[in-house]
Amino acid sequence: MTIYQNLIGGEWIGSDATENINPSDTNEVVGLYADGSAEDTKNAIAAAKAAFPAWSRSGIWERHVILKKAGDEIMARKDELGALLAREEGKTLPEAIGETIRASQIFEFFAGEALRLAGEVIPSVRPNIGVEITRDPLGVIGIITPWNFPIAIPAWKIAPALCYGNTVVFKPAELVPACSWAIVDILHRAGLPKGVLNLVMGKGSVVGQAMLDSPDVSGITFTGSTGTGRRVAAASLEHNRKFQLEMGGKNPMVVLDDADLDVAVEAAANSGFFSTGQRCTASSRLIVTEGIHDKFVAALTAKLETLVVDNALKAGTHIGPVVDEKQLKTDTDYIEIGKQEGAKLAFGGELISRETPGFYLQPTLFTEATNEMRISREEIFGPVVSLIRVKDYEEALATANDTPFGLSSGIATTSLKHATHFKRNAEAGMVMVNLPTAGVDFHVPFGGRKGSSYGPREQGKYAAEFYTIVKTSYTLA
Ligand code: ADP
Repeated sequence: MTIYQNLIGGEWIGSDATENINPSDTNEVVGLYADGSAEDTKNAIAAAKAAFPAWSRSGIWERHVILKKAGDEIMARKDELGALLAREEGKTLPEAIGETIRASQIFEFFAGEALRLAGEVIPSVRPNIGVEITRDPLGVIGIITPWNFPIAIPAWKIAPALCYGNTVVFKPAELVPACSWAIVDILHRAGLPKGVLNLVMGKGSVVGQAMLDSPDVSGITFTGSTGTGRRVAAASLEHNRKFQLEMGGKNPMVVLDDADLDVAVEAAANSGFFSTGQRCTASSRLIVTEGIHDKFVAALTAKLETLVVDNALKAGTHIGPVVDEKQLKTDTDYIEIGKQEGAKLAFGGELISRETPGFYLQPTLFTEATNEMRISREEIFGPVVSLIRVKDYEEALATANDTPFGLSSGIATTSLKHATHFKRNAEAGMVMVNLPTAGVDFHVPFGGRKGSSYGPREQGKYAAEFYTIVKTSYTLA
């Protein structure tokens, strides 16, 4: 089998490899991908450092052309790359193709942003002096990504990093190297100079740690678990380095008595269980007022009955497998915890076997949960949802905000008053009205507050905040 190698200083390198296994069919090896060392990482950082002066001064047209070319190729290959994504991560083929299209759109967006770079010219308070405010690139950006969006998250970090003139060392998650390799290959062939984008696949504790420990990495953008996020923060403070973290969520979706029942059920089923509940914006807490509670539980469980859990590539599958055995164990452990805590298992909770061996778990709904239970406070990252009954809107809002996290927060209501009040008072980076808490646009800011995120927003024009440093220049003339 071919080994997909690391790209370091413009050369494909590496002979040690790890198997990439399909969670829908654990007999299938998607490919062999390089297992990089700390030495590889150091070499990649050195190559990125050496490439920075020329790339940071490269013309905006060159950056535009390369990013546009990459976006075009991703779009042209959306079905093939979508299938690769579904095979390595386990989300359904339509979801995987949708994510691939989004990656293409992100490259298109930042290809455009490269042509819109601008500064400000402001008069000084002192006569005959002009002030210019411009943005410089940071330098070498370390990109560390998780497994749940194998193409979109790398795209939304790599595209702005390159757009604003930075060079990159990119470390994808161990479980999903294939899409990362594919987009690095596309960008390399699109004409990036040597060393501008380096790919080091390998273990977090080896490759990731070597990035954290390097004084030559000027910024780290990280999406992943809270524990690793804290390590990124601590190491970055040590090196006086800029960092940006996207971590966990325990996103609430409030359902009020006056909600349109169909809209509420669709939104809850989608954001609770699609993508196997493995989205940081998934609704893992449904907070439902008394008047609609029983109707909503009946309609949601009826909807869950209709959802097919099966091989991600099979037509008609709504929910693919859990990503791997470790995550499956986390999910089933929390299902046990929920039972022990006294929540009522209203749907699911069982492993399923299918034609192909994989990590199949029923969508799982706990009712009669309280917001104090561990299943309502800790991020599970699987298709396991707590439903909490509350008296009224005020209790619903207080419960929604009573969490260590703050990424996305949703409400299903037909009341303009409650929707408006919720948008103003939800303690979250993103608020959704009559929509799933997951599913965001690529051209507007993404990010959270409290324990979910740290640092500037990602995506859209707000991405410039992280990937550049503001410079103020004064000229006597
Ligand atoms: P998850 O538990 O969802 O896999 P992690 O935070 O462990 O979340 O993984 C997110 C990313 O962080 C992955 O690319 C992983 O390899 C990387 N990572 C894990 N440990 C470290 C570390 N010590 N230093 C840097 N990166 C790490």
